[in-house]
Amino acid sequence: MSGRLAVIGLGPGDQRYLTQEAREALEAAEALYGYGPYLDRVPMRPGQARHPSDNREEGIRAEAALRHAADGTHVAVVSGGDPGVFAMAASVLEAVESGPDAWRALDIAIVPGITAMLAVAARAGAPLGHDFCALSLSDNLKPWELIERRLDAAASAGFVIALYNPVSRARPWQLAKAFALLSRHLLSTTPVIFGRAVGRADEGMTVTTLGAASAIEADMATLIIVGSRETTLIAREGQTPLVYTPRAVEGAMA
Ligand code: SAH
Repeated sequence: MSGRLAVIGLGPGDQRYLTQEAREALEAAEALYGYGPYLDRVPMRPGQARHPSDNREEGIRAEAALRHAADGTHVAVVSGGDPGVFAMAASVLEAVESGPDAWRALDIAIVPGITAMLAVAARAGAPLGHDFCALSLSDNLKPWELIERRLDAAASAGFVIALYNPVSRARPWQLAKAFALLSRHLLSTTPVIFGRAVGRADEGMTVTTLGAASAIEADMATLIIVGSRETTLIAREGQTPLVYTPRAVEGAMA
């Protein structure tokens, strides 16, 4: 019997963000693999084995899950947010590509989830209303020079930019450098949104400007959206402002 492997997105936090498809896929699994804190979000089911692992061990985790599935087991690998966005789905497919033929014969399903960028955008208004892009600021898997080139290109092309993995203990200075680079293309009044642990009990949202952004604290649970030239704030009495990017842009880029 050939096994099954589902790579499941849990959404940004709260159970309400879990899709019905993801819920059913989690329930159907005999064994769960994932980063420990993500597995902790999945309700316990009798008879379902859990294999937590460390955040950095994505390749090892993917191979362990594939080996287990190849035994004929129904295995699920979980990711926060969407599994295809800077997460496990690509790690699993990389392992499939370089692994034994038996792994290609598996029934593999990628089950989408609400990615952090969409959850943060929705809280703030509609900052992704026009063209946007997403970048991971982590230089664990690519050189920092490439990140700088992409930030430059994205800002000069007029994209709204979502920044995943903005800081970690090992990467304390990169975010301020990124804001400085973006400031070469964007006004200091450009809206910047910090969404932290969105969808969880300790959620926090800050709307600021590019000029003031480096003074705002960010951590590994923060997703940052930097507006484009068109991104606008709607001030509201006694409430946080609404941030949006108009659907239409006129004229050519400067
Ligand atoms: N697959 C995930 C992203 C993994 S990269 C997804 O689709 O959301 C990890 C980064 O995602 C974090 O450093 C942070 O930038 C962002 N992130 C994940 N969950 C978040 C949340 N609940 N609130 C804000 N940002 C989050």
